[in-house]
Amino acid sequence: MKFAFCVEDETDEAVFALILEKLLGVPVEPDRTTYQFARGGWSTALLLAPSVAKRAATAYLDGAVFAIDNDGSSEHESAHSNDERCRFCLLRQAANVQVPLAWTRAGAPPLRYLFAVPVQTVETWLLLVKEYPFPGLPEGIGIGHVGRRKLKRLLYGDEDPGRALMREIAIPLVTRMDPQDLAQKSKSFKQFLNQI
Ligand SMILES: [Zn+2]
Repeated sequence: MKFAFCVEDETDEAVFALILEKLLGVPVEPDRTTYQFARGGWSTALLLAPSVAKRAATAYLDGAVFAIDNDGSSEHESAHSNDERCRFCLLRQAANVQVPLAWTRAGAPPLRYLFAVPVQTVETWLLLVKEYPFPGLPEGIGIGHVGRRKLKRLLYGDEDPGRALMREIAIPLVTRMDPQDLAQKSKSFKQFLNQI
């Protein structure tokens, strides 16, 4: 399957593609057009999201993944309806997928739009898979750029892992990931899993 990714960097794109492959059970190929925004580029993410949603439709992809770090915002709850303090709600609202979903795409697969706001980052999810002994709450690290760098260092041993290092560390973790087990440990992962 082919998806567009609205993510912060190529590491996140690659990790989310791996996670999606695991959850869908089929190979996932990122769209050749990349939509990445600078770390902490929350307002850019909101601006990009509707274009990514439309791109998935017009390029006849299978869908799009929208992902951004939580960065200390309110955690999404299923009872939310467009909570202004919640990144998940705001990102979903900005993507406005109702517009492309209403378009006719003869012969194309049904579009899937998936939203992920890992608390606090996708590295938290992978560290939980690794059973890293977090001192205190796993969600306690990763707020602000210093915290995000720390999570990368804990997972990859490097604050700015290249693609090769990222794959070397992330692939075995995603392979051994038990989605139901991780959903028990991370509410934000559960919210992503529930959309699959
Ligand atoms: Zn919410």
